[in-house]
Amino acid sequence: MSIWTDLIDFYKNFSGVTPALKAASLAQWIVESARGTSVLATQHLNFGGIKFRQRMQGYADPVDYRGSDGELTTYCKFSSIEAFVRGYWRFISSGPYDDYRSYENDSAAYLRYIAGQGYATDRDYVAVVLRNLAEAERELAQNSPSTSIARAFRVAIVVGHNRRSPGAFAGSPINAHEFQFNQGVAQSIKDEAWHYNLEAETFLREPSASYGEEVKAVYDKVKDWGAGCSLELHFNSGQPSARGTSVLCRRDIGRPRALAESCRTSTVEALGLRDRGVVLVDRSDRGGGSLYALDDVPGVLLEPFFGSNSDDCLTIASLGPKTLALAYLRGVRSWVESAIS
Ligand SMILES: [Zn+2]
Repeated sequence: MSIWTDLIDFYKNFSGVTPALKAASLAQWIVESARGTSVLATQHLNFGGIKFRQRMQGYADPVDYRGSDGELTTYCKFSSIEAFVRGYWRFISSGPYDDYRSYENDSAAYLRYIAGQGYATDRDYVAVVLRNLAEAERELAQNSPSTSIARAFRVAIVVGHNRRSPGAFAGSPINAHEFQFNQGVAQSIKDEAWHYNLEAETFLREPSASYGEEVKAVYDKVKDWGAGCSLELHFNSGQPSARGTSVLCRRDIGRPRALAESCRTSTVEALGLRDRGVVLVDRSDRGGGSLYALDDVPGVLLEPFFGSNSDDCLTIASLGPKTLALAYLRGVRSWVESAIS
């Protein structure tokens, strides 16, 4: 095994970006690293000719290297293949290329975009890279022993309520209904999931004449997508004095309860609000429609705080939706790991 085949094997199973972006970036790395044989690649695991920038702090170490242009420049040194892949996408998503997702289904458009934003100075860069696109696509499609490694575990994010009936309201400084607030949390979960080797997708409920039909429709989509588990996002509401975090799950089977415990632990730890524990729900209870919708996809319903309590709202507003997103992802991650081991 060479570092080049290691890179391809790792990248085949990487789920952080679309297939079109994977092929485009691998085609770049074919060119930039001469298939993993450049000095930058062999000594520093930098297959992309990525120069060091402040924003790469924590993703790479700076190393001085004389580039093909003869100039001594500070490049990125990566500690592993995985660190390189994550570093490359850090470099793209945080810099002048941060609109790259607009091109995520078109390899050539992505390459034109980043070249135009200054990734390379060579005028022919896009054409040179595109000549290697077919090879990159072939490499990523090929079967190898490593493709038997499971793809990233899939987490379905169901946003509670719908646009017509948006759920409870959280007062100042949040000033939003559940449906609106949790779409922000869902987006953040989607963006951050790959750091946890998870793949997340958001599912919205479509207003329907019957609550039962509405819930069934969205959970049918969750199942069709191949979800390994589901999180339904809410927040609580009640008397002004009621506060804290609860996680709801169905009563009758064990796997959702373990998932609920794991999410409760990570969320209480991240928010520091009162721990109201895991609430076991019967089919006819509030939330039962969602939690009993699928027998084979463990699901929980998250109520991290009370929108009706001003202290809770203040805490959540100061922590921000990303803190909630990361707490949920940590909860799912440790549940997945405990289920494997
Ligand atoms: Zn709700």
